Amino acid sequence: MKERLEALKSDALAELAGVNDAQALGDIRVKYLGKKGALTEILRGMGALSAEERPVIGQVANDVRGAIEAVIEEKQEAFQRAETEKRLAKETIDVTLPGRRLPEGGLHPLTKVIQDLEDIFVGMGYQVAEGPEVEMDYYNFEALNLPKNHPARDMQDSFYITEDILMRTHTSPVQVRTMQAMQGESPVKVIVPGKVYRRDDDDATHSFQFHQVEGIVVGKNIRMSDLKGTLLQFVREMFGAHTEIRLRPSFFPFTEPSVEVDVTCIKCGGAGCRLCKQTGWIEILGAGMVHPNVLEMGGYDPKEYSGFAFGMGVERIAMLKYGVDDIRHFYNSDLSFLKQFARL
Ligand SMILES: [Zn+2]
Repeated sequence: MKERLEALKSDALAELAGVNDAQALGDIRVKYLGKKGALTEILRGMGALSAEERPVIGQVANDVRGAIEAVIEEKQEAFQRAETEKRLAKETIDVTLPGRRLPEGGLHPLTKVIQDLEDIFVGMGYQVAEGPEVEMDYYNFEALNLPKNHPARDMQDSFYITEDILMRTHTSPVQVRTMQAMQGESPVKVIVPGKVYRRDDDDATHSFQFHQVEGIVVGKNIRMSDLKGTLLQFVREMFGAHTEIRLRPSFFPFTEPSVEVDVTCIKCGGAGCRLCKQTGWIEILGAGMVHPNVLEMGGYDPKEYSGFAFGMGVERIAMLKYGVDDIRHFYNSDLSFLKQFARL
């Protein structure tokens, strides 16, 4: 019986040596060590042994089982290790590969310029105010020192809805609304971005609808030099640190004195080119000291308070900043045009 057990052991080990997958390993375990396996078969003969032989054979049988199990276990571990390594090799990813770029949108250039303007003026302590686009004649004209039949009303041909209501022709009515809302308290310090409407024929530089940003400051001892310093700071942040400004006398009904403001040509830096008509300067906005009549209608005593105001066309700023030659590009939603600004 002992010989049969030894023979079983060497058979099993020989067979195990040739095994190279987990399935075959399981089959061998059943064949030799299972309930109906070869070892059980041999041990069935134990009953016929003498009382002295039984523990001896029992010990041999345990050793045989242990030896076979040890080899099976060892092989199983090796198979598992190999399997894991195979899987890791298959699932390896190259973390240095560049990712796939997702399609992304961008801000419209006019939105970007308005946001830049807001950032610059908020940085100087301004608040951003808004007002209605459908406006009363009173706020759009009368309270800005433009009474009915004033000749300057012709400068801004308007879309009237009724005799007293129109599409606002500038963002200036928000000046009056803001001053009135402050009820004579100072300081007023706001900028007003928004859409405005004029009965213009569309061409390369005109549109019946465009954007303005208006600014107004009202307080005590506000002077022309404050206006100049503010505008210089603004153009340097918008167009670059070397930009200079030039103020030329002008006329607006709502400011006195009034100025038109030029900046150093963005294209040639002042040397003279086609864009600036060889002058080195480009006009970008109108400004002035708030007219005493406007202060008064806004609820401020012009003997005690003074202020300055300025207004500019957002499209004009954007055209100069980005070198766009036709205002209509901003409105016709041409993606090949708009995509140029997505990463600026
Ligand atoms: Zn130039």
